[in-house]
Amino acid sequence: MGNMLRDLSGKFSAATRALRPSEVREILALTENRKVLSLAGGLPGPEVFPKEDLARIASRVVEELGDSALQYSPTLGVMPFREAVADFVRSKGVKVLSDDRVAVTTGSQEAIYLLAMTLINPKDAIIVESPTYLAALNVFRYYGAEFVSVPLDENGMKTELLEDKIKEAKSKGLNVKLVYTVATCHNPTGVIMPDDRRKELLEVASKYDLLVIEDDPYSFFVFDEVPFTPLKTIDSEGRVIYLGTFSKILAPGLRLGYMVADRQITRMVELAKQMVDLHSSTLSQYIALYALKEGVVERTIQKARVVYREKRDIMVESLEKYMPEGSHWFKPRGGLFAFIYLPDGVDTSDMLPMAIERGVAYVPGRSFFSDGSGVNAMRINFSYLPPDKLREGIRLIAETAKDYMKSKGK
Ligand SMILES: *Cc1c(COP(=O)(O)O)cnc(C)c1O
Repeated sequence: MGNMLRDLSGKFSAATRALRPSEVREILALTENRKVLSLAGGLPGPEVFPKEDLARIASRVVEELGDSALQYSPTLGVMPFREAVADFVRSKGVKVLSDDRVAVTTGSQEAIYLLAMTLINPKDAIIVESPTYLAALNVFRYYGAEFVSVPLDENGMKTELLEDKIKEAKSKGLNVKLVYTVATCHNPTGVIMPDDRRKELLEVASKYDLLVIEDDPYSFFVFDEVPFTPLKTIDSEGRVIYLGTFSKILAPGLRLGYMVADRQITRMVELAKQMVDLHSSTLSQYIALYALKEGVVERTIQKARVVYREKRDIMVESLEKYMPEGSHWFKPRGGLFAFIYLPDGVDTSDMLPMAIERGVAYVPGRSFFSDGSGVNAMRINFSYLPPDKLREGIRLIAETAKDYMKSKGK
């Protein structure tokens, strides 16, 4: 056995050696076999899944369409599904331009990955909200991107800062290439960008010739009457790449997302996707196609909006009741998350083991910033747990925070 390899670390590529585990996934692993109330994940509430409908549809798809549904299929998706997705996004007010094409992806996560693969050179700069979706940050980072962080407030990205930020990045020799934004029901804060900022964002994008990735998993779950127009709809220059997903409106286990973008982009995405996974699950695409046609998706959206809104309200009420003085948060207008700032001096990464010990988990805020800020912040999810557990989870976080502050003499 003398030749046994003991340490393979020297074998991995430099880019892969730089990979860091996603903090969320690590936490989920940690909480898996314990009685921990997890407010950490981004899981839809299981009570929302249309299980009976999907069982019926899945069996019908295999029995009646098995020869196609179980077969390999085109890289950008099966045509009837791509058409149904185009109709679906149009019905939600998303403008599809004549040069646009739909690309079906294995969740939005793959769409983000394929866009990074096809668009990013090392040292290209990406404009992001600060904080932003951590799974996108990780992908862009892997491809060597630099970040231009633009702070946000209760109306999303502060677009009035954009131009100065771009000029500053350019003066450092960076090639500012695109904006990545979750403009509607932002992850992690739940805020919605109003149209005046959206227009300003697109004007700046036009002036500096930037592409814009509009990542939109949540516009179906707006709880308060906040008017907004998709960036894709305001844009007339074909620079917005619109991403959607069936993860939050049907089931994440299907792994189905979609991109609506100029065909020059979907063409490159097609070439990249051929290398990555040939195509997304044919079976999932047919299941989602029938779920769309039979109104199952629409019914799931309606149900989820009611359920999540109620949970949002319970969460806000519990935050107000339990959180230590000096905490603040954005009231989420939609989506599945809230972002909480605890009083200065609290380090939420440092506090996490105490919280898990007490029986509750959250995601420390730092992961959502490209620059290490957010030390005293945390993201909590309100869609997954039933109401009483949600209330209890927030109470436990608040107690942990108070103990933590006491132990630090605050
Ligand atoms: C949940 C989520 C997604 C969806 O990921 P999938 O790969 O489609 O499951 C994409 N972007 C954001 C901001 C999300 O919160």
